[in-house]
Amino acid sequence: MHVLAIGNQKGGVAKTTSAAALGVILSRRGKAVHLIDMDPQANLSEAFGVEDGEGLLFQALRQRGPLPVVRLSDTLTLTPSSIDLARAETEFLGEPGREYMLKTCLEKTELPGHVPANGDVVVIIDCPPSLAVLATNCLTATEALLVPMKAGGFELRAVGHLTDVVRLLKERVNPGLRIVGVVLTEAKKRRAITPQVIEEVGRLYPVLGVIPEDAELVYATTGGTTLKLKRSTALEEYRKVVDKLGEELAWLNVK
Ligand code: ADP
Ligand code: MG
Repeated sequence: MHVLAIGNQKGGVAKTTSAAALGVILSRRGKAVHLIDMDPQANLSEAFGVEDGEGLLFQALRQRGPLPVVRLSDTLTLTPSSIDLARAETEFLGEPGREYMLKTCLEKTELPGHVPANGDVVVIIDCPPSLAVLATNCLTATEALLVPMKAGGFELRAVGHLTDVVRLLKERVNPGLRIVGVVLTEAKKRRAITPQVIEEVGRLYPVLGVIPEDAELVYATTGGTTLKLKRSTALEEYRKVVDKLGEELAWLNVK
């Protein structure tokens, strides 16, 4: 099992959309993929038309038990989220070892129906837009962090702050953690600012892709039909992101 988290404490930068797209692409290439929705807003769950009506993810974290798993296809499964998860931010605040809840649960989780046709199970975590308890759990459970950010403006301050947090977590809880790269999202055509952002971000991290604005991807993710998405300019670009990720992460083992 190998883990990739999609995170940025800023909201609306396409974390969830990227997690959904990467999950679908990898699973279509025959990888066994497990998605984890760690945002109480449950947008990733919605993208696949799934609900955690009973707050099972929150209960699993509280009990340090196995995560709930929903099968989406032969090679794709999902741990859905719900608004109950928001309680985690306050309820677990004073608990010793609170950073390790998700990691512990994940280690106990069996992923049924998964036949790893092409290597190990790849776990993709969609992080919440914060740097609090839930986000820290995501960054403790993962080996790599992919950072989506908007291509339309200067978002470097947020990435700088994220870099500091990742450095601290690496020192104190997760020595293997690394920021694997950045994906610039919702890039508008003919916007002079994009090349400038690419250059500035590129000095900090590999820029693994520039995703164009694309209505098809939005319809599919917001309409719960991501699994069926076929033609999409953004999805094409996410395919290239998967290839570049494969160059950075040997374990991803993409064909
Ligand atoms: P986050 O998870 O970081 O909050 P989302 O994935 O929910 O971000 O995306 C924020 C908004 O941007 C959503 O309304 C989403 O549909 C939209 N969006 C994401 N990617 C694209 C894209 N490539 N083209 C157009 N809209 C997009
Ligand atoms: Mg989101």
